[in-house]
Parts: sequence; structure tokens; C-alpha cells
Amino acid sequence: MYRPNGDQATSTKGKSFLLKYKFLRSFRLRIFLIIMLIGMCSLVIMRRGLLANERNAAIDQRSSSVMSMMRILSNRIGSSFFLEDISDGEISGDLELLAEVYNARFIVTDSELRIVFDTADVDTGKYLLAGNAISAFRGKSVSEFDKEEGVIEIAVPVYSSSVDLDAEKSANAVILAEVSAKPVLNAVEQKSERSLLIELLAAVILLGVALIVSNIVVRPFDRVTRAIRGVVSYEDSELVVSDYMETEEIVDAFNDLRTRMKAVDESRQEFVSNVSHELKTPMASVKVLADSINMMPDAPIEMYKDFMQDISAEIDRENAIISNLLSLVKMDKGAGALDVQKCDINLMLENLIKRLGPLAKKSEVDIILESMRNVTADVDELKLASAITNLIENGIKYNKKPGWVKAHLDADHRFFTLTISDSGIGIPKEEQAHIFERFYRVDKSHSKEISGSGLGLSIARRTILLHRGSIKVDSEPGEGTTFTIRIPLSYIADNTSGAD
Ligand code: ADP
Repeated sequence: MYRPNGDQATSTKGKSFLLKYKFLRSFRLRIFLIIMLIGMCSLVIMRRGLLANERNAAIDQRSSSVMSMMRILSNRIGSSFFLEDISDGEISGDLELLAEVYNARFIVTDSELRIVFDTADVDTGKYLLAGNAISAFRGKSVSEFDKEEGVIEIAVPVYSSSVDLDAEKSANAVILAEVSAKPVLNAVEQKSERSLLIELLAAVILLGVALIVSNIVVRPFDRVTRAIRGVVSYEDSELVVSDYMETEEIVDAFNDLRTRMKAVDESRQEFVSNVSHELKTPMASVKVLADSINMMPDAPIEMYKDFMQDISAEIDRENAIISNLLSLVKMDKGAGALDVQKCDINLMLENLIKRLGPLAKKSEVDIILESMRNVTADVDELKLASAITNLIENGIKYNKKPGWVKAHLDADHRFFTLTISDSGIGIPKEEQAHIFERFYRVDKSHSKEISGSGLGLSIARRTILLHRGSIKVDSEPGEGTTFTIRIPLSYIADNTSGAD
């Protein structure tokens, strides 16, 4: 996916920052922060919600108590001549008193919404066009809280008792009050300060809880680390940390890895001991031959020559083992070990069969080549030729006299198939799975007469796998053996595993 350079720079920066400050990647810290974040958000939201509720309830209570007073006054004004003569001292006195008690301003209008009485005494004679005054004039008592000004505005209609309420809808007058909400808001503010203290206390408790919970949550992972660090050898018992499904999976994966590593280690140890053994055998023979000739001061020159030939053969054997080992090590490094080029497989087979002619003749074995079509494929010719040579050589070596070895070549549009069958001694069924292992030789007793190191087939198999091909064996003891090789015509460079 394309990413602009700037983004990449930031993400690498972020990564290196996290790498530098290791603790920031701590799972424990992240759990702690998540708990704190959720807890603090809930506390703040809860406190705000509670305070808002409290403030609304206090404002509602204040406005309904002022409104009920205003209703009483509305009835009194309706049944008096206050509107005609505001010098009615009793009502105006009560309005003044209420204004003082509630820290409010009361306004009374006439039927034309002209202010006839104002406790603040500033707008008398003016017309009142406020929306809630008009609503009250239409017969509806209204109460509204003006947040910005911090006042509650209440409007109540006044009906003259002489008017038939059913016939006349509009009020005769309106009483309007502007009540300061400050005392209510101050009380709520004080409560808010007290609740802030409680919130701080709750935050401290939350901090403790977050610390404890994050430690408890992470503890099983600490146990996994301790258990893994405690493992010192493959023989230690299997790890079990079953607190979480996840820890169980980590521990299972570790146990699996340990089993696989144990197998690799065992095969490495076996390989080293096999190599040492195989390398020692020719050296031991050389030593025996040299010592025996040394112990015979008057040995004839023919005997010397004979012994020297044997010594030379042993050195050749040692050399063959070492070069086989080197090719195996090279091929273990991967497909880079191949030098793939277009190759005429028919020609390659003809040439290698020609080279094996003298050996076959000596062993009274006929080599037959059956080619169904011309095959050209992308292969490493040298390595593939030596793998096939090894298979045909085995066919000659492990054969009867007289015998035959047949190479049959065919291809489809994707693969070429080469079968190499012989009329030889065959391989017992239970041994067939092991013959591709390093240093494995089926019958140690006949191994003495038939030279070999047990490395040929494992090199051949590795070569074929590097070509993304497959090799299989089919054999009947006493009747013969067939090896079938299948290799793609075009080399697939990206595929990492061979079809085996
Ligand atoms: P070696 O150098 O011993 O031939 P290989 O890896 O080529 O080693 O073969 C491993 C073993 O498999 C041989 O020792 C032999 O016992 C058995 N084997 C291989 N090819 C044949 C065959 N064509 N017929 C019978 N046995 C075979």
C-alpha cells in the first residue's frame, strides 16, 4: 500500500519512540490507563449529570413557588380595582415585599400590555412586548430560565372576576416576574465544590483499583515469562499456565516449539556423530593398512603397491564423503544454491548414461533410456545431473548380475516425470521411509561390499525439492526399485516449500 513519505517518517518516529521508552509498550500500563480513562470519564459525566439535575430541580422549585404566589396575587388583582387605581397600597406593598424576598422584579400590565406597575420603577408606562407576556395574555402561565442572565422569567395572566371566563379568552392583565436564580445557582455551586472533593477521593480510589486490577490481569503473563525462563533443558516437564485461554495458547505454542527444537537438536547430534563415524572409518582403514605394511620390513614391492592402492581408495572415499557433506550444507542454505538455466533433459540423460556405461558393464547391468518426448526445463543442470546419476548408480550398485536399469522420461504441460527402475535387490517396506535420511544405509552387512556413504539419496532429494519438485520410491524386496521424480518445467522462484 502506498504511504506518503511524511506518514512513514511519523510512524517510524512513533515506533522508535515506543522502542526507546519500553515502559510505554507495557500491557500493564495500558490496562491501567484504560481503567483510569473509563473510570474518570464516568465520574466526570456522572458528576455533571447530577449537578445539572440538581440545578434544574432547584430552579423548578423556585419558579413554582414564585408562580403560586403570583397566582394568588393575580386572583387578588382580578377581584380588586388595582388596575384602575394602582395606589391600592396593599397589593403594591405585597408585590414590593415579594420582590425583596425573592430578589425579583415584578411588573403588572393592563389589558393593552402597558406597564402599570413596576417594582423596579423604571419601565412604568412603557409597553411590554416580551414573548412570555404575550403568551400569558393569551391565558397561559409561562416560566423560563434565562441561562445567560441567570434569571427565571415567569408570566401569569390576570382575569377580572367580573368577566365571564368562557366568553373572554384574553386576560385583563399580566403579572411578569424576573426572579434572580443566583441564590439557587450559588447553592448548587457550593454543592458542586463539595462533590468535587468526593470526585477527587473517588479518583484516588479508582487509581488504587486500576493498579490492583492491572496487576491481577497481567499476572498470568508474568507467570508465563517466569515458567519459560525456568526451562533449562528439553527434559523439563511441559509448561502449564491455564489462567487464560491466551496464556494456555502461548504456553502450548512454546511446548510445540520445544518439541520441534528437541527433534532438530537430536537430529543434529545424530548427524554430528554420524559424520564423525563416517569420517573416522576410512581413516581407521588407512591406519590399519599403513601399520600392517610397517610391521613387515621385508614386504615385496607388489604388496606395497597393493596396500597403497587400498589407501588411495580409502582417501577417495573420505574425499567423497567430505564433498557430499559440503554440497548438503550448501543446499541447506536454500534455493539460492541453484544456478537455473534452460536445459535439454533428453541430452542430459544421454550424456550421464554414457558416462555410467563402464560401471554398468562391469556390473553386468544394462541401462535403457525410454524417452517419450523432447523435454526442455529450467533446472540447475550440474546438480540435477548428479542427483539422477546417483539414482542410476544406486540402480547399478544394488542390482543382481545380470540386471537392468531403465530411465523413462515423459512430460505434460507443467511437469516432466522421470522414473528410474531397476531389477535389483529392492528395499524392505519399513526401510523405505528412511532411505532419504542422511547416512542411512538399509543393510549394514551388504554396505561393506557395496561402497557408499548413505548421503546420495538425501542430496538427491534436497536437489529435487530445491527445484520445487518431488521424489518418491516404490520397491519390492527381491524384485526391484522404482524412483519417480516430478519437476516443474518452469522454475518457480518465489515458492519456498517443495512439493514432496
Ligand atoms: P549409498 O551411498 O549407501 O548408496 P544412498 O543415500 O544413495 O547412499 O542410499 C541409501 C540407501 O538406500 C543405500 O545404502 C541402499 O541401502 C538403499 N538404496 C538406494 N537405492 C537403492 C536401490 N536402487 N535398490 C536397493 N536399495 C537402494
